[in-house]
Amino acid sequence: MKYIFINPVVDQMYIKEELDKALIENGYQRVEVQTDWHKIVKEKYTKALKETNLTILDRRCPKAIEAIHEYFNKEEMLEPSIEPILIHCAIELANREDLKDKKKIITTPCESLAYYGNKLNLQNTEFISWKVFAKQTRLDEMLEVKQLEASPIPPGYFTELGVKTTSLSGEENIKAYFKSDLHRQDELVEMLYCHHGCNNGDGVLMNERK
Ligand code: SF4
Repeated sequence: MKYIFINPVVDQMYIKEELDKALIENGYQRVEVQTDWHKIVKEKYTKALKETNLTILDRRCPKAIEAIHEYFNKEEMLEPSIEPILIHCAIELANREDLKDKKKIITTPCESLAYYGNKLNLQNTEFISWKVFAKQTRLDEMLEVKQLEASPIPPGYFTELGVKTTSLSGEENIKAYFKSDLHRQDELVEMLYCHHGCNNGDGVLMNERK
């Protein structure tokens, strides 16, 4: 038996019972995290904001960080050492005593997060986009997918921090913002490469049974 973590975006695209049953039939047992990383990551950004006067960049989306590489200015901006939420989840599972020697699969909503995660070389842990995993296991042929109107983690993650924040999604919007030096007016910049968030990532299947 292998163990699998289903990311929250994919989780909402299926009927849980159907997904769990199909996974078990294919030799995968679902695992969940025990810590609220969504909340803890937010707290880490709050702490980082208190420690700098630079504009903090959201590091939850590796592809967005990559997209603004040419505009990055270390005199004015800070990429805090805060891993994406999914990476926090994977580290918890990789370090869990009861799963230590077990093979763990972490599904991602995009190829970019899978690539980023695999570079960390977490013990017995493999990151794979849901799309690739579903096609490899042929789960895409067995399961009906639900269309999501919005991401389970939509733009606006930092709103409650009450600091001057601009929330961006989509490569062109992100680049246009930095090209115009608009970061100078903000304490924090939320950036999601995919329009409206991870439900539009290249690692999810919007309509497998078309
Ligand atoms: S916004 Fe897109 S590229 Fe960024 S983490 Fe989400 S799915 Fe991946």
